[in-house]
Amino acid sequence: MRFMDGHCDVLWKIWKDPEKYLFHAEDSALDVTVQRLKEGNVGLETFAIFVPSQVPKAQKLDVALKQIDYFYEKVLTAPGMQLVRSAEDLENSSASTCLALLSLEGADALNGEIAYLRLFHRLGVRQVGLTWNQANEVADGIGEERGGGLTSFGFQFIQEMERLQMILDVSHLSVRGFWDVIEYHSLPVVASHSNCKSICSHKRNLENDQILALISKKGLMGITFVPSFLHEMENKARIGDVIHHIEHVCELGGEDILYFGSDFDGFTMKVPELEHIGHVNHLLKELEKHYPSSLIRKWFWGNGYSFYKEHLATKNR
Ligand SMILES: [Zn+2]
Repeated sequence: MRFMDGHCDVLWKIWKDPEKYLFHAEDSALDVTVQRLKEGNVGLETFAIFVPSQVPKAQKLDVALKQIDYFYEKVLTAPGMQLVRSAEDLENSSASTCLALLSLEGADALNGEIAYLRLFHRLGVRQVGLTWNQANEVADGIGEERGGGLTSFGFQFIQEMERLQMILDVSHLSVRGFWDVIEYHSLPVVASHSNCKSICSHKRNLENDQILALISKKGLMGITFVPSFLHEMENKARIGDVIHHIEHVCELGGEDILYFGSDFDGFTMKVPELEHIGHVNHLLKELEKHYPSSLIRKWFWGNGYSFYKEHLATKNR
C-alpha cells in the first residue's frame, strides 16, 4: 500500500552536517533515506525547509536557500525521486516513484519579504507553515505566551499564498493564528504533524474544536510519530497510541482528513517499531488488526492524494 508522509526534517539534518547525513547511503544516520522510502512504499514525502531559531536573522534566508539546494542536489538526484509541483505531477507519477513535495516550515526565513515567497514558489515550494514555535513577521507560533494571531503583514502574506495556489500548514501556529487562517475561507489548510490534545496534552497537539474546523474545511491532519505527541509519558508511547489518536479523529467525524506526518529526522527518541520511515509497514500491520483496508488506504494515501490533486495548481508555472 502506498504511503504519504506529510513532514520530515531531512533537509535540516543534511544542512547541519552534509558529510554525516547521506540520503543515498544504505546505512545512513538519517531516518528518511531513498532505501527506506522504498521499503515503506512511500509514494510522497514532504521535505520541510526548517531554519532553527538560533540562526541569526541576517542568515536565515541563506540557510533556507542552502536547504533548497540540498533538496535538488542530494534528494532529487536519488533514484526514483521526483519533484511534485502540480496536480499533473501527482497524477502522472508511477507507483514506483516517490514524489517529493517541498514545504517551508516558518516564514521567518523570508525576512518579511513577499517577493521571497514568490521566489520560493518558483524554486518549487508549494506549502508553507507560517511559523515554527516562535513569533515572526507573519504570526505568533504556539510557543509564544501572548498567543497573538496573524499580523497585518501576515494577512497580506496569505493573500499572496492564495494567488500562488499554495497550501497552508497550521502545525506550530498559535491557536489564535489557527483561527485567523480558518476564518480566511479560501486557503487549503493542513496540520501536517499534530495529534489530539484530548489524548495527549502536548501544546502542539490540536483541540477538538480545531480538529472539527479542519474537518469542515476539508483539510488534512497528519498524525505524527513523535512520542511526546502520542503519550503523556513519552517513553511509554507505542504504535497502539497512533491508533488511539486516529480513533479519536474518527469519533469526531474526521476519517476523510486523516493522513500521517512522521516528523522523522526532527526528533530523537522513537516509538519502538516505528523508528524510521521504512517502519510504516509495522504501522500498516497494526492498523489491519483494527480497520478494513479500504479505510487504511484512505489514511495511507487516498485522503492526501485527493487533497493535493484538488489544491495543487493544475499546471507547473
Ligand atoms: Zn515541526
